[in-house]
Amino acid sequence: MTAQKIDGKDIAAALRGRIGTAVAALQKQHGKTPGLAVVLVGEDAASQVYVKNKGIATKEAGMTSLEFRLPEDTPEAELLDKVRALNADPAVNGILVQFPVPDQISQQKIIDTIDPSKDVDGLNPANAGRLVSGLIDGKKGALTPCTPLGSVILAKETLAKKGGDLTGKHAVVIGRSNLVGKPVAQLLLNENCTVTMAHSRTVDLPAVCRQADILVAAVGIPEMVRGDWVKPGACVIDVGINRIDAPEKGEGKIRLVGDVAYAEAAEIAAHITPVPGGVGPMTIACLLRNTLTAFCRQNGFEEPEV
Ligand code: NAD
Repeated sequence: MTAQKIDGKDIAAALRGRIGTAVAALQKQHGKTPGLAVVLVGEDAASQVYVKNKGIATKEAGMTSLEFRLPEDTPEAELLDKVRALNADPAVNGILVQFPVPDQISQQKIIDTIDPSKDVDGLNPANAGRLVSGLIDGKKGALTPCTPLGSVILAKETLAKKGGDLTGKHAVVIGRSNLVGKPVAQLLLNENCTVTMAHSRTVDLPAVCRQADILVAAVGIPEMVRGDWVKPGACVIDVGINRIDAPEKGEGKIRLVGDVAYAEAAEIAAHITPVPGGVGPMTIACLLRNTLTAFCRQNGFEEPEV
């Protein structure tokens, strides 16, 4: 069997399109536009690319994009003041501080200071707690981290195309970070999956993975999940993004691979996300979705189905 590739680019583009349509309709109805503020501290090259791409996608969806670039040596107190000012700004519905931040700044303090209703990264403990409590919808519902949300949308849409859903499926999530593994597991639980969380101390990880109808890899080890770890017919969602040397492309060149050995796993699985072009594009689309959600909840507008 050769697995069907789950095209994250296509699914993300369609989601961004639906968000753009909803934004235009809300603008027409209420005369208001969602605003997303992104704060970047320092000159990290990868972060600069991410922030630029987020700005482009935000504007393309018809939202207001506000970008704040602060120098590398910005004191923690100054960044916290910036976050508080954005919390108080009614034109800002979503706030994202690009991580990692320089060493003098505590990432957790930033996360704790962002108003939970504007926390479009979904990392504030209030949002994490709401997610664990199953409070996802409604004014007090969790804003959920973007990559996990995107990963679960990919699995859900893939199974829906086959006329199925996630209910009762055994999902194995490898990785237990607050950013990816834990929220993915909670979202899958909310979709009525039976969830197993695996991690660096899991005994006989290949055998655990072989039980998975839905296998989510969020580890950060290039091609760790081999073909014989995959249950025949499984849906494999590869969150990993790893840069490895690619001498075949020329000296000093690199290429991106996931946490799953794609070619091997694609022989066994029914569906699999590629890297790049799988989960990656969903992250920005879900950031826009969270911004739209936050905007609607803050204004008391009905949340459009996107
Ligand atoms: P992390 O380092 O915070 O967590 C990694 C997790 O993997 C840990 O919970 C650890 O227990 C587990 N782990 C480590 N070694 C293991 C092993 N040998 N066997 C089993 N489990 C092991 O990383 P993260 O922030 O959760 O990110 C995971 C991956 O996802 C990375 O490759 C990262 O680049 C990628 N990522 C992608 C996106 C995206 O937009 N696609 C977003 C965030 C993270």
